Amino acid sequence: MSERIFNFSAGPAVLPEPVIEEAREALLSLGDTGIGIMEHSHRGSAFKAVLAQTEDLCRRLAGIPDDYRVLFLQGGASSQFFMVPMNLMQSGDTADYLITGSWSKKAVAQAKRYGETHVAATSEDRNFCYIPTDTDYSSRPRYVHFTSNNTIFGTQWSDKQGAEEPQPPDDAWLICDASSDIFSRPLDIRRYGMIYAGAQKNLGPSGVTLVIIRDDLVKAAALDIPEMLQYRTHAENDSCYNTPPTFGIYVMGRVFNWIDEQGGLTEIAEQNQTKARVLYDFLDESVLFKPTADTDSRSLMNVTFVTGNADLDAKFIGLAREAGLDGLKGHRSVGGMRASMYNAFPQAGVERLVDVMREFESKHR
Ligand SMILES: *Cc1c(COP(=O)(O)O)cnc(C)c1O
Repeated sequence: MSERIFNFSAGPAVLPEPVIEEAREALLSLGDTGIGIMEHSHRGSAFKAVLAQTEDLCRRLAGIPDDYRVLFLQGGASSQFFMVPMNLMQSGDTADYLITGSWSKKAVAQAKRYGETHVAATSEDRNFCYIPTDTDYSSRPRYVHFTSNNTIFGTQWSDKQGAEEPQPPDDAWLICDASSDIFSRPLDIRRYGMIYAGAQKNLGPSGVTLVIIRDDLVKAAALDIPEMLQYRTHAENDSCYNTPPTFGIYVMGRVFNWIDEQGGLTEIAEQNQTKARVLYDFLDESVLFKPTADTDSRSLMNVTFVTGNADLDAKFIGLAREAGLDGLKGHRSVGGMRASMYNAFPQAGVERLVDVMREFESKHR
């Protein structure tokens, strides 16, 4: 087998190696069942145990209260862009959206199909390089939707001053697309009516979407939509109304177990801060590489930076690739470079990146 390299991909992204090794064994036989994880019936006791354990770990790590359901769905985070308004907007309702990047724009575009939407804040005026602090909510929004980490633009809502998570008006449900930072730091689930994430950035393989939703939202959801698209259906059937993404749920469970072994979300958050600091500290000193996000809005998950010269950017990405650093090309809407450093990304990879950047800078200053 060829050697594994440092993978800075934004998603699907790097997974913890011990998890991949466990999965490799489970592909042939889950425990001593003699049947591989992909081949087990979702109605059988072996898979039921996997599902229960995955949910238990999820609940324990994130401190999920009993009046929240944990759902394992399909269709990616993008399907939540329409399932949220489809289920939760009733006629006459307005939903407020905070627009901090391409994913929030996609979310609000889908909500427009189901009712009135109101943009309560946007940072599009400066190509989404910051988290907006001024919010202007509508008079009685049904819910407020935001994207906690902007994967493409390298910004993140946080507990840092100036980028604190939004405080919706009374009675409005706060709904969070946390696809690219869920489980990267401790969560205060009570803040949210619902929080969701496609798994492929920080939780596992593509094909499974984690939805954590409070019971009153499930109860209030629309009934005149297809059963498959109602949260109620999946909540009442423990995510087994139809065949769930069994392999993805299994891997997510092993990733939760790995996080638990690391010491849980507090410890993971410290690791993520340390990794990001190594790169941002270098960027703040560099005369060649510049971060694209405002200082108070920087993401710990996706670090975006440029040299200011597209040819030089391309040259750097090529050199980094030769040094065993893959996936650094920035999204076309920002250009330059993007280093995605989710939970499973090792600190050694960040240090290698900084070494390569330093060397490149000394030749091109
Ligand atoms: C990747 C991403 C999505 C899209 O996820 P899919 O699972 O591909 O639909 C949505 N929101 C955010 C913040 C993302 O990073």
